Amino acid sequence: MAFHGSLFDPRAGTAQPLAYCRGLAQAARRAGARIFEHAPITRIGHDGIDWIVVVRGDAVYATHLLLATNAYAEALEGAPDPAFVPVYFSQFATAPLTGAQRATILPGGEGCWDTGRVMSSLRLDRDGRLIIGGVGNVAGPQGAVHRAWAARKLAQIYPELAGTPFEHEWSGAIAMTADHLPKVVSIGPRALSVYGYSDRGIAPGTVFGRAAARALLHGDPTALPLAIAQNHTERFKTLRTLSYEVGATAMHATRPAPFLTHRHPR
Ligand SMILES: Cc1cc2nc3c(=O)[nH]c(=O)nc-3n(C[C@H](O)[C@H](O)[C@H](O)COP(=O)(O)OP(=O)(O)OC[C@H]3O[C@@H](n4cnc5c(N)ncnc54)[C@H](O)[C@@H]3O)c2cc1C
Repeated sequence: MAFHGSLFDPRAGTAQPLAYCRGLAQAARRAGARIFEHAPITRIGHDGIDWIVVVRGDAVYATHLLLATNAYAEALEGAPDPAFVPVYFSQFATAPLTGAQRATILPGGEGCWDTGRVMSSLRLDRDGRLIIGGVGNVAGPQGAVHRAWAARKLAQIYPELAGTPFEHEWSGAIAMTADHLPKVVSIGPRALSVYGYSDRGIAPGTVFGRAAARALLHGDPTALPLAIAQNHTERFKTLRTLSYEVGATAMHATRPAPFLTHRHPR
């Protein structure tokens, strides 16, 4: 048995994160925003009136400032480093399933995830690829363990897909916090840093972004779903990152039992 029970919430859905990001960018442009790609900020400062944001030696002045760099925060002089534990998550995608397979596998396009500490997830993309995800870095030294786990997990949940190869795999960092809640930290006058979505930032990130913009522009901290902290720290970050990867590798090496790799439907 793969799961002891489940909760079905018909309000939920899935999104393609890159397409969603591009859609948000288009909407922002239509609303008058200017977007600069490949423009890393290296330093920020405040001159008593405005924020000065330095991008490759050029200065940009701003009355309000929102840092939203989450797990990919790059070193920034003049601002405290966002405190979170970087944890890797990997995804594996099959070829598009056949019509017959799609009729029985997540037929409503449901996105699923479990509540395990070394959590895993399942969903279909637009073309019907089954995407299985789990904690651990497939691009790291233990990649083969995570890849083999994904194949066994697929066979455990859907025996009819045993032996189906993965056509794509990728991984990225997520920003975990100790209580798994995002953090909103003040970094000076009319300036906030928002991060730490703990693997749940796609929809919440949009909500927090809008709320943070309102809080800054109207000077109204109650627009935010969480109180603004003056600072935030996380303990034993390196150790905890390591424990997630080692824990995920140990779990993926042994569960589900490796013999399932070779199981085929009769
Ligand atoms: C494999 C994987 C699967 C995931 N699955 C899910 C899921 O199913 N559901 C879910 O809700 N979330 C999921 N997440 C988490 C989700 O992707 C993040 O929570 C979300 O992308 C955070 O959005 P963001 O805009 O805050 O940060 P990001 O999308 O990470 O964007 C931050 C940007 O800031 C830029 N940046 C950093 N430093 C600087 C600097 N100094 N100057 C300029 N730019 C800078 C970075 O380059 C980056 O482009 C997943 C993450 C991974 C890696």
